[in-house]
Amino acid sequence: GQCVMVCPTGALSERDQTQEVLDYLADPAITTVFQMAPAIRVGFGEEFGLPPGLNVEGQIIAALRKLGADIILDTNFGADVVIMEEGTELLGRLRQKKSPTFTSCCPAWITFIEKHYPDMRPMLSSTRSPQQTLGVIAKTYLAERRGIEPANMRVVSIMPCTAKKEEARRPELGHDGRPDVDVVLTMREFAHLLRREGIDLKHMEPSAYDDPYMSEYSGAGAIFATTGGVMEAALRTMYYVVNGKELEHVEIGQLRGFENVRTAHVNLGGEFGEIKVAMCHGLKGTRELVEEIRAGRMDFDFVEVMACPGGCVDGGGTLRSKKAYLPYALKRRATLYDIDRHTKARQSHNNQQVQRLYAEFLGAPHSEKAHHLLHTSYRDRSCVRPADIEAAWDEQAEEG
Ligand code: SF4
Repeated sequence: GQCVMVCPTGALSERDQTQEVLDYLADPAITTVFQMAPAIRVGFGEEFGLPPGLNVEGQIIAALRKLGADIILDTNFGADVVIMEEGTELLGRLRQKKSPTFTSCCPAWITFIEKHYPDMRPMLSSTRSPQQTLGVIAKTYLAERRGIEPANMRVVSIMPCTAKKEEARRPELGHDGRPDVDVVLTMREFAHLLRREGIDLKHMEPSAYDDPYMSEYSGAGAIFATTGGVMEAALRTMYYVVNGKELEHVEIGQLRGFENVRTAHVNLGGEFGEIKVAMCHGLKGTRELVEEIRAGRMDFDFVEVMACPGGCVDGGGTLRSKKAYLPYALKRRATLYDIDRHTKARQSHNNQQVQRLYAEFLGAPHSEKAHHLLHTSYRDRSCVRPADIEAAWDEQAEEG
C-alpha cells in the first residue's frame, strides 16, 4: 500500500483552534453549527468548578447561544443514527457468519488497528462515528431543510479527546471536497474559549435545544460515552429489529461492569439466538483482547472498544485526575445512566427526528444514500516506522 506520512507525535493535533471558531462567529456569511459529544455535559462543569458528574447540558446550550452560535445540535443525535446503521450492518454480518465486528466510534482505536493490525480492517464496522455522522447530515440534510449553502456552513465539535481532531481531518470523512466537521475543540479548549469571551458557565441559566431536525436524542444515544454504552444502545435496537417488539429490560446489567474486558452472552432472539459480545476499554485490555482473538483463543460476534479507560467520560480532552480517575468516571457515568432513564425514547429507533431523517432523506438504514454518506473505509498505516507508531499510540492513550 501507499505510505501515508502522519505526524508521529500527534503534535499537530494539539493545535488550539479557538481563533478559527471566533472567526466563523464573526463572519455574517457563515452559519456556525455546534455539536457536543455525549461525554461533554457530564464533564464540562468541572472546568468551572462545578461538582463532578453534574449534567450541564442546559448551561452549555445557553453559553453557546451567548457566544453567537447559529445552530446547536447534539452528537447524541448522531449516535442514534449510528445505531440505526451499525445495528443493521451487524445483523447483515451475523447472517453472513462474519464475526467478529468491532465498533468504529473511537478514532484512537481505529488508528490503532490501521497501524498495528491492518489485516483486521474488514472486521471494523464501516459506520462513521457519531461526530462525523452528525457533520455530514448537517451539511446535507440540515443545510437543505434550512436553506443554507453547505459551503457557508461550518461545523464545530466539542469533544472529549484530541483523537477526534485527527478523525475530522481524514480526507475520506469529507464531502464534496469539504470536511464534514471543520473544527474540533477539546473540553479544555472550549473552556478557554468561553473564558476568553467572558462567559462563566456557572452563571448561565439552563436553556434547551430548538433545532427541529437534529437535536433530539434517545437514552441509547446518551450512554454512548461510557464503556458498554454503545453495546447496550445497539442491542436495544437490534432486538427490536429482530423481534418486532421492544426489549423488556432495556438496562442490560451484564454490560455495565467496569473491568477492562467484559464478555456476555445476549439472546437476540429470532434466527440469531444467543450472540457473544465483548466490551473493552483502555489500551491494556484492548491489546490483550485483540491478541486473544487473533490467536483464536476467544471468539465474539460483536466487540465494543474504547481506547480511554472508562470510555469517553474520561477521555484525554476532559479534565482528569490520574489519582482520582475512578470516582470521577463513575460519577459521570452515573449521570449518563440517569439521563437515559429520563429520556422520552430510550431506543435510537424511537427518536422521532431520526425517524423523520430516514423517512424524508435517507430512505432506510444502509440505503444507497445512507451508505454513501454514513459509511467509511480504513487505511493500512502500518508502514510508518515502528518507533513512531509506539510513540503515537502511547501519546494517544495518554491524551485520549
Ligand atoms: Fe476519544 Fe477516548 Fe472516547 Fe476514544 S474513548 S473517542 S479516544 S475520548
